[in-house]
Amino acid sequence: MGFSTQIEAVAYCRTPYKQKFGIPRQPGLVDFVRGFVELTAPYNHIDAVRGLEQYSHLWLLFCFHENLAQGWKTTVRPPRLGGNEKLGVFATRSTFRPNGIGQSVVKLHQIHQGKGKVVLEISGMDLLDGTPIIDIKPYIPFSDAIPDAIGGIAQQAPEQVEVNFSNQAVEQLSRLEKRYPGLDKLIQAVLAQDPRPAYKKGKPDPKRYQVALYDLDIFWYAQEQGIEVETIQPFCAKASGAGV
Ligand code: SAH
Repeated sequence: MGFSTQIEAVAYCRTPYKQKFGIPRQPGLVDFVRGFVELTAPYNHIDAVRGLEQYSHLWLLFCFHENLAQGWKTTVRPPRLGGNEKLGVFATRSTFRPNGIGQSVVKLHQIHQGKGKVVLEISGMDLLDGTPIIDIKPYIPFSDAIPDAIGGIAQQAPEQVEVNFSNQAVEQLSRLEKRYPGLDKLIQAVLAQDPRPAYKKGKPDPKRYQVALYDLDIFWYAQEQGIEVETIQPFCAKASGAGV
């Protein structure tokens, strides 16, 4: 109440995740995937990150910019609970929040500087490509890590499912490996999270699904024993989201 401030992006995040569907639901779940935080003017000065290289991890505060237009609700249905039970918005990490602010701990690998750019190379992020970053802070283990904390409905990381590739997908991957090193590992790790709503887990599901990584569409089916990658195609905006 009674305060006013203008919030603007200090950086934008570049990630392989081109659509919301399929992005890991928290940071660290797919921990090896690299991303880049590109500082914007007037924050793109190396002095603004002086000393940051001493930290292994960062807090990124960001805006759920793709969800702002939809607003927020008092209660939400967390995917973890299969979409049946409602919890208060402030009792969840819902992306539909009054101020649309997200927070993620990510690993810092390197700070790149040159041609007027300052770019932080990170990994483990759960952010959409192009996400506006509104603040960056060092992660301080003595205070930020609480090993015996109680984690409510999210005490444990979700279980992973098995991911298999069709013969066609294996062939496509061998052709794409040069241009997208580690693509097989990325697809495997993203789909092992089973991006579908939790109530679908372990049930037969005839739908064809798609996730967008880099400029590729990955088409897949969920089977009883796990996920099968059917085919990999150039990205097509029309294919967007679940069940195509
Ligand atoms: N760690 C953060 C975000 C958790 S939710 C927090 O707790 O605040 C993670 C989900 O946010 C992803 O699965 C993705 O679907 C969604 N997401 C990521 N970036 C987004 C963006 N820029 N706009 C809207 N949704 C986004």
